[in-house]
Amino acid sequence: MVATVGIDLGGSKLLVVRVDDGDVVERELFASAGEDLLVTAKAAIRELWTDDVVAIGAGIAGLVRYPDGVFVWGPHVAGSNIPVRQILEDEFGVPAFVDNDANMAALAELHLGAAVGRQDVLLVTLGTGIGGAVVANGDVYRGSSFAGEWGHMLYQANGLQCDCGKRGCWETVASGPALARLGREFNALNPDGQLAKTLRDANFSAETITSAADAGDETARGLVSQVGAALGQGLCSLIAIFDPELIVVGGGLGSVGESLLGPARRIAADAIHGGSHRPLPPIVVAELGPESGAIGAALLAAQGIQAQLAR
Ligand SMILES: [Zn+2]
Repeated sequence: MVATVGIDLGGSKLLVVRVDDGDVVERELFASAGEDLLVTAKAAIRELWTDDVVAIGAGIAGLVRYPDGVFVWGPHVAGSNIPVRQILEDEFGVPAFVDNDANMAALAELHLGAAVGRQDVLLVTLGTGIGGAVVANGDVYRGSSFAGEWGHMLYQANGLQCDCGKRGCWETVASGPALARLGREFNALNPDGQLAKTLRDANFSAETITSAADAGDETARGLVSQVGAALGQGLCSLIAIFDPELIVVGGGLGSVGESLLGPARRIAADAIHGGSHRPLPPIVVAELGPESGAIGAALLAAQGIQAQLAR
């Protein structure tokens, strides 16, 4: 019996789970306090701490050096070059395993979710930006550390400004903020339209649009479909590079499901390299929802500690 705690550190929220032998036995969600992310993280881990916990896993949105667990930088999380692994080990006195949050989510989907039994999988997470992870030969592939940051591959030269400081990244057209921007642009052109009436609050988010789409608003469905098309175009580039057997789409926007993935599949089927001679890999929704990063972190900690004990 191995008990571990997994934590998913995001820019705005922080989720902790305690896992016993692959079963999530406790979970808690916290709002993260900007600059004091690690202070909040330590308090959150302590909430779920029991004496039988043998290791901690932590997933962070951004560039994380693995296995030394240094958070190098990320556009949505404050701070840089933070030795998170060392800090957690000093605080709790057990080994810590720290990695990119999408790698953690991929591990969770591979062992407990949509990718069980698969070997070559891409996880694409859609939220504030696009995150991603590569599973190759049944294991997370990290490159020299930072593989899977395809939210920042060039989608359009001199395109829209990205949070990372560059222009035209894929996530500027396929993410929650991209959908919200399409909504604002549409409403500016059609201030008396139904969508503008539905979205009266000027600070509406992507979620407001996806809810309107779910409620049958045709304009909102059209906007979701535009983002889905941009998703599909980018996926084609990933398929050309990795030739995965399966693509799992997760994250807040990914959970929207068919109204987003349907257009993505259609565009990808049209644009895939050698399309009339090869099948499009299945593009499916992630199964573990917002907990996947924290669950994967706990699983990585369990795997890591078992590998250490086996030595
Ligand atoms: Zn970027």
